[in-house]
Amino acid sequence: MLLLTCPNCGVAADETELAPGGEAHLTRRGPGSDDASFESYLFHRRNPRGVHFERWRHAHGCGKWFHAARDTVTLEVYGTYPAQCAAPPREILDRIAAKHPGFDWEGGA
Ligand SMILES: [Zn+2]
Repeated sequence: MLLLTCPNCGVAADETELAPGGEAHLTRRGPGSDDASFESYLFHRRNPRGVHFERWRHAHGCGKWFHAARDTVTLEVYGTYPAQCAAPPREILDRIAAKHPGFDWEGGA
């Protein structure tokens, strides 16, 4: 069972209370961008075996969006943080680096 703590209301919710929103920290591309960038924004997503940053919505709770960092293999949750954060908080990256030395969140290693 996946258990995530909503950073907006503080409730620890299992996945039945949450709605997945896909990969976090995507850079939005608009009509003015080149075709390759727009295609990548629309269709290309990481699907890593390991650390992944995701968007979730506390659908049956406060209704707000948040981000979660977790391991897709072990289901270990490294932390959750507000959706307004443009990058994962340092303490979450440190927690990930302790388990995965050399991890680079922008490289998705
Ligand atoms: Zn909530």
